[in-house]
Amino acid sequence: MATEREEKVMAAIDPVCAMSVEERDAPERLDYEGTTYYFCSTDCREEFEANPEDYAN
Ligand SMILES: [Zn+2]
Repeated sequence: MATEREEKVMAAIDPVCAMSVEERDAPERLDYEGTTYYFCSTDCREEFEANPEDYAN
């Protein structure tokens, strides 16, 4: 079967390293003040959790 349904994938930006992360593939995510943030790695999520005010806008 053809796989041509990739257009609706939601892209998010890892707020720590600014990498583009597909929401459904993001290895890490975190809800902070009502917003879900997506991260490329556990390291980035931990960095966000350590200093959320530096990254959340
Ligand atoms: Zn990252």
